[in-house]
Amino acid sequence: MQLTFWGAARQVTGSTYLLELADGFKILVDCGADFTRDAYNGKNPTTLYRGNSSILPFDPTEINLVILTHAHLDHSGHIPLLIREGYEGQVLCTPPTFDLCKLLLMDSARLHRRKYNSLVGTHKKQPKVPRELLNSLMAGMFLEHHVEESFERFVTIQYNQRFKIKKGVHLTFIQTGHLLGAANVLLEIEEDGVWKKIGFSGDIGRYNYPLLQDPDSFPEVDYLICESTYGARYHEDEGDPADHLEKVIQETCVDRPGRLVIPAFSIGRTQAILYTLNRLYAERGFAPVKVFADSPLAVQSTRVYEKYHRYLNKEAQGFYEDNEALFDFESLHIIESAKESNELKNHFEPCIIISSSGMISGGRVEQHVKNNIGNPYATILMIGYAADGTIGRELLDGAKILKFNNLELPVAADIRRTDIFSGHGDLDDLVQFVQQQKPQKVKKVFLVHGDLPSMVSFQATLQMIGYQNVETPAKGEMFEL
Ligand SMILES: [Zn+2]
Repeated sequence: MQLTFWGAARQVTGSTYLLELADGFKILVDCGADFTRDAYNGKNPTTLYRGNSSILPFDPTEINLVILTHAHLDHSGHIPLLIREGYEGQVLCTPPTFDLCKLLLMDSARLHRRKYNSLVGTHKKQPKVPRELLNSLMAGMFLEHHVEESFERFVTIQYNQRFKIKKGVHLTFIQTGHLLGAANVLLEIEEDGVWKKIGFSGDIGRYNYPLLQDPDSFPEVDYLICESTYGARYHEDEGDPADHLEKVIQETCVDRPGRLVIPAFSIGRTQAILYTLNRLYAERGFAPVKVFADSPLAVQSTRVYEKYHRYLNKEAQGFYEDNEALFDFESLHIIESAKESNELKNHFEPCIIISSSGMISGGRVEQHVKNNIGNPYATILMIGYAADGTIGRELLDGAKILKFNNLELPVAADIRRTDIFSGHGDLDDLVQFVQQQKPQKVKKVFLVHGDLPSMVSFQATLQMIGYQNVETPAKGEMFEL
C-alpha cells in the first residue's frame, strides 16, 4: 500500500493523508483546512487535478472513505469541499467529534457565505467579479448546503471498538485527550496474508488537562504517523491550572481592580477555562468576579461538552454529578447577541471577558481588545498560539502600538501569557507517545503537523533514543508501506 502526505507536511495545519491499498481502496485520514495555503486567498492554489477551480490535490470521487481524528478545522475543515466536488463515501469519527464538527463547519460556511455574497453582489447571474476569477476565488470555499450534505455522511464509532471497514481492514479510535472526542487512529490492514498496523496520532493531548481524560495507551504498530507541534519545546507553566488562574485573577481583578480579557478558541479552551473558574468559585470559595463568555459558538460547544460529560475525566464527571452542570455558575453571564457584546464596554466593574478568536484575528474579541488596550487597569491574557499577521502575535512580540483600520492605539494594558491551557502535549508527551513503540520493531515513524525546525529537532531527539527510521515527509511525498 502507499501513503501520500497531502497536508500538515512540514507545516502545522492541513492534516490530510491518503492511504491507497493494494486493491485500489483509498482511505483519507483527516481532510483539514490548510491555513498557510488558504492565505493565498484562492489566487495561487497548488492544484493537481482540476486547474484553478479546486484546491484539492486529488480527485474526491476516487476516495472510498474518510476517517477523522478530531473536530478542529485543520483536521476537518476541507470535508465539505470533498462533498462539493463529488465525494460519495462516509466520514467515520467518534460521536462528540461529529457534534463539534457540526458547529465548526457550519460556522466556516457562514464566513464563506459572507465572502461569497460580497464577491457576487445582488445579481447572481452578473457577479461583481469576472466569472473565471470568481471560480478561482471560490475554489477553497463551501456554503451551508455543502455542510448539511456532509453531515449525512458522518458515521460515528465509539472509542476502542474494533470496527470492520471491509474484509481485511479494521479501524479503532483510541482516546487521546486534546479535545472532546479526539482520537488516535489504529488501522489494521491485511495484504497478501500479512497484517500491517498503521497508527495516526491526530493531535496528542496533555496529562491532567481540565475536563479531558489523559491520553490512553497506544498499541505497537508497524508505521507511526506522529504530530510534532511541540517537537522542540516544553510547556513553561506546569501544575494545577486552577492555581494559575486564581493567581492571575487575584492580581488583575482584585488587587488592582481591572478587567481581564482572555482571547480563547470557542471550542476546547473556553470550556477548560469556564470549568476551571467554576471549580475555583465552587470549591475554594474564591470571591466571584463577573465572567462574560462572549462567543455564540462557545455557548453551543459548551452544551456539547455537557451532553458528553461521560467522556470527560473522573473529576469532571464527579463535579457534574454533584452540581448537575459543568459551566453554570452565578457570576457567569453568557453573551449571545452582538448588541450585548458591544455594551460590555460600558461595564466598569472588574470582570473577566472570555471571547474568540484565540489569536485575536477577527471575532468579537477584537472589539474587546480595542476597547481595553489603552487601559492600564486592563490585562490581556494570551493562552494559546498566535500565527504571524494576527493581533495576538503582535501583542506576544511586545508591540507598543496596535493598528485597528485607521486607528493607532498605544498598548497600555498589561499583556500576559500562559501555556497552561494549551491542548497540545509538549516534547515530553510526544516522546512518551512514540516510546510506546519498540525502536527495533517499528518500521518507520513519520513526523507531521509541525514546522520544519520543530520536526528536525524532534527527529534528532528520537534518533538519540534509538529510532533510526524517522521521516519528515514533504507535501505530496509518497511512501510504500
Ligand atoms: Zn487539534
